[in-house]
Amino acid sequence: MLRRIPTDQLSIEEAPRPRLERPDDVIIKVEACGICGTDLHIMEGHSYRPDLPFVLGHEPAGTVVEAGRAASEWLGKRVVITLFTGCGHCQECLAGNERLCANVVSDTGVFGVWGGYADCLLVHAAQLLEVPARLTGPQAASLVDAGATAANSVRVAMTREPASVLILGAGPIGLLSAEMLRANGVDVQMTQRSPRRRAAAQRWGYEVFGAIGETRGGFDAVIDATGSPAVFNDGVKALGPRGKYILAGYAIVPNADFAEVSHKEAVIHGIRSGSRHDLATIVGMAAAGTVRLPEIMTWPLAGINDAITALKDRRVEGKAVIIPASYSPGE
Ligand SMILES: [Zn+2]
Ligand SMILES: [Zn+2]
Repeated sequence: MLRRIPTDQLSIEEAPRPRLERPDDVIIKVEACGICGTDLHIMEGHSYRPDLPFVLGHEPAGTVVEAGRAASEWLGKRVVITLFTGCGHCQECLAGNERLCANVVSDTGVFGVWGGYADCLLVHAAQLLEVPARLTGPQAASLVDAGATAANSVRVAMTREPASVLILGAGPIGLLSAEMLRANGVDVQMTQRSPRRRAAAQRWGYEVFGAIGETRGGFDAVIDATGSPAVFNDGVKALGPRGKYILAGYAIVPNADFAEVSHKEAVIHGIRSGSRHDLATIVGMAAAGTVRLPEIMTWPLAGINDAITALKDRRVEGKAVIIPASYSPGE
């Protein structure tokens, strides 16, 4: 439970079990829930400010254990979710782009609706996507936001058939983006400051540099998966003419060099997680073995503050995932 902002701790509490309210509501018993950089930013007070108290966790995977009468076909299914709920009838909502709805209602586990750092959570059936049996719960959880964000970033990068793409940051979003681009036959270079994550990407066969200046430059696209303001100017410098700077993070960049953007007629393209289609794409590729999945480290729900500390201390090579203690796979 998030009790105040800013904070460096979540409190471990008993909360009332969510109850079905609408006919299309379902309750998911959480098998696993990934931790995202956005969670840390929310706790630091540098991001969304949900009404408190609030249960974070926007990367859940689990099993539908209760369903309203309009959602009964989901009972017993293993699922992941799309995060956003919009107005439900605008053009963006109807196209599966609820995240871009002008009247967005909630982002599960971020604002509006409590999330997956819990034994169970309440979502609408329209958010559900079935998980293929080949994926474990932690693997599926690692794709909910990181995978959808990577799929959206790569979809945007692929619109101009790039010969080469630079990915900034070899965390889960960066690695999944690299895997998708490689599956599309695109030459990928990466940068990563932390030696642990740099070594992990190198083991996967990628060319990984410690700084943008060491790369060969002239890229058709740069995918910025760092969430850091420090890389923007050098990242734009690494673009070729009309290159695309694809922003998969939400950093505030105080000294952005727009002269460089204009000199190249570069395009800055923002990324907000991904669409239902993006989530389905990455889940399908992961289940088919077309992309490899980042290393997963797990913690029990009661150890979530240890997991958060490990992420902050850069001790997590790939994805940090929470496993609620009450989950048993045969249930
Ligand atoms: Zn996230
Ligand atoms: Zn809408």
